Amino acid sequence: MLVVDATLGDGRRRDVRITDDRVAAVEVALSPGDGERVVDADGRLLLPGAVDAHVHFREPGFARKETWGTGSRSAAAGGVTTAVDQPNTAPPTTTGAAFDRKARLARAAAVDYGINGGVTADWEPDELFDRPLCALGEVFLADSTGDMGVDEAAFRTALSRAAAAATLVTVHAEDAALFDDDARDRSDPDAWSAYRTAEAEVAAVERALELADAVGARLHVAHTSTPEAVDLVAGTRHTCEATPHHLLLDRSALDDLGTLGRMNPPLRSPARRAALYERLVDGRVDVVATDHAPHTRAEKDAGVWSAPSGVPGVETMVPLLLARARDETDPLTVDRVREAAARAPADRLGLPSKGRIAPGADADVVLYESAKRPVRGDALHSRCCWTPFEDRPGVFPSLTLLRGEVAYERRGGTERFGPARGRNVCGGRD
Ligand SMILES: [Zn+2]
Repeated sequence: MLVVDATLGDGRRRDVRITDDRVAAVEVALSPGDGERVVDADGRLLLPGAVDAHVHFREPGFARKETWGTGSRSAAAGGVTTAVDQPNTAPPTTTGAAFDRKARLARAAAVDYGINGGVTADWEPDELFDRPLCALGEVFLADSTGDMGVDEAAFRTALSRAAAAATLVTVHAEDAALFDDDARDRSDPDAWSAYRTAEAEVAAVERALELADAVGARLHVAHTSTPEAVDLVAGTRHTCEATPHHLLLDRSALDDLGTLGRMNPPLRSPARRAALYERLVDGRVDVVATDHAPHTRAEKDAGVWSAPSGVPGVETMVPLLLARARDETDPLTVDRVREAAARAPADRLGLPSKGRIAPGADADVVLYESAKRPVRGDALHSRCCWTPFEDRPGVFPSLTLLRGEVAYERRGGTERFGPARGRNVCGGRD
């Protein structure tokens, strides 16, 4: 296949040749070979498939919320071609048998993927390190969906084991001792943000970094929601990620969102959101990842203290950020989106053939529409059918290729998905 006249993330206009499953050439002008399919990009944006380091595809255990099939098709339709699944399923991915069971379910995936190994008091590290793990974690330092919170002793053990195996550790850093119990008297949706304080995140990140450094472990801090936490990580050997919801929504959105806006960590103040966004723009936030955490609308339709935490996002991350980057008054650039959503996570997860459009790389490439379209929950492909970003502008893919073959295509309003040919790309073996 030859994609002609594409605009790459850095603004260069190039032709891109794809041979079999790889990018073969990126040149100013390439001539089509005999019988080669030509896609005229007509100046539209062509980016590497995004690498989402943080999704919850919910199987096994919660197929009513999401499946590997629905979650991965949602990813493909949003320009994500590699997704890393977190361990808080049922059973949790804390043993070899649980890993193997999830790996079988993951064969339904329409995009490539990684599977993380979970840490609990009774996890089986020997079995897990014998599997093709992507990373350890997210290790929950406070309870979230799945009640997988661990104490410091278990976290220390996990860090030591991961350091010995040269495995990355991702951490959900909140310190429940610093949650504000006074907020428990309230019943409005903002009470969740008041309860799970910014200080609880900052203190937990600081401690996690200390413990990781003590044993030489490499840490990736999941979903940092505060600029203070980002600043603790910036300039160290560790990395952090931020989610679209923490970058684009703040506590003032909870009046409209209600418990749809409940997630962990929670939405923060407008000032903290703006400071987090600034850190994505300037590169202190290394990675954007979605923490795609779907629940059914009926489950979310509950009081603030009983609704489950989490929002979907794998299909809207790149579209929302590209719409911001196309806004001339916004400091975010397309190239920063490319770096934070594709190149940086691929590098951090040890996936050198992902996250770039360069000769020899996997042909995971995404061609985007020229016009913006509003995000509509009922048009997304996640099983949960709602979004906290309803009506916001997005720049969506018209064509997503996974290793050279169509994973998603949209033509004239008609969509089609490719077959389930996703592979586990982590851990050095399938
Ligand atoms: Zn988390």
